[in-house]
Amino acid sequence: MTALPNGVTVVGSMNVDTTIRVAQHPRPGETVLGTSGPDAPGGKGANQAVAAAATGATTRLVAVVGNDPAGDAYRAALAEHGVDVTHVGRSASRPTGRAFITVSDDGENSIVVVAGANDDLNADHVRRALDAGSGVLLTQLESPPEVVASALRAARERGIRSVLNASPVLPEAAELARLADVVVVNEHERDEIGDLPDLCVTLGARGASWGGVTVQAPTVAVVDTTGAGDVFAGTLAGRLALGANREEALADAVRAGALATTTRGAQPWTLED
Ligand code: ADP
Repeated sequence: MTALPNGVTVVGSMNVDTTIRVAQHPRPGETVLGTSGPDAPGGKGANQAVAAAATGATTRLVAVVGNDPAGDAYRAALAEHGVDVTHVGRSASRPTGRAFITVSDDGENSIVVVAGANDDLNADHVRRALDAGSGVLLTQLESPPEVVASALRAARERGIRSVLNASPVLPEAAELARLADVVVVNEHERDEIGDLPDLCVTLGARGASWGGVTVQAPTVAVVDTTGAGDVFAGTLAGRLALGANREEALADAVRAGALATTTRGAQPWTLED
């Protein structure tokens, strides 16, 4: 077993994102024609793992893809982007998770996520990865809630600092948040979850605040804010694992989140690069 004292273990989702452009969204029962570009890497777990790895922290992702070409390509691409994929398993029965994002000419989005293999992530798989040692656990709510709960409990038992990005908000979010050392939310999620002792709140163009400290975001030329919250959470966890204090980690996360809005997509590459 390799010790990972300063590293980040990310437990979460991997989805292949297909964006379809349409003139207008189809009404129920209607068929419309659309166009699509290359598939893009997505899923909050993978998005955050790539951001954590970009800080220089050793980063491993615990996730499940399908036993299919999409899963193989995504796994290989993450490894190329510096993420340890040893604990990215393959489902025997479910396909790689997918998100279908439809964008109309007036800029309105609608998204359908098919979790697929992500639903095969289980507590044993997570515990095995944490047994290899880690400085920080980072997880989100795109994985089965019972797996998130057991990951947070396993981190606590092992003295690993845990960061929960409580997104998307589920009915169980407030309960799960109580199992985490640090909870990262945007303003909308904070309103849904309510007050908690150690909340780090992202404020969009206004930056983020944590523990009484607010860091302003730099002014940037925004192209696409998709995934900015994921880059924020991954960077925060990476910097904490490298030994940064709260203020330093917060400042870097705000900067990285702002920079992420200047390029398209949650991760700045496609699965056909
Ligand atoms: P989410 O993407 O989860 O809704 P936010 O919108 O709060 O979260 O954004 C997360 C982080 O991304 C912010 O803390 C900030 O660092 C950066 N960010 C988001 N929008 C902008 C923006 N318009 N200008 C500069 N930075 C931004």
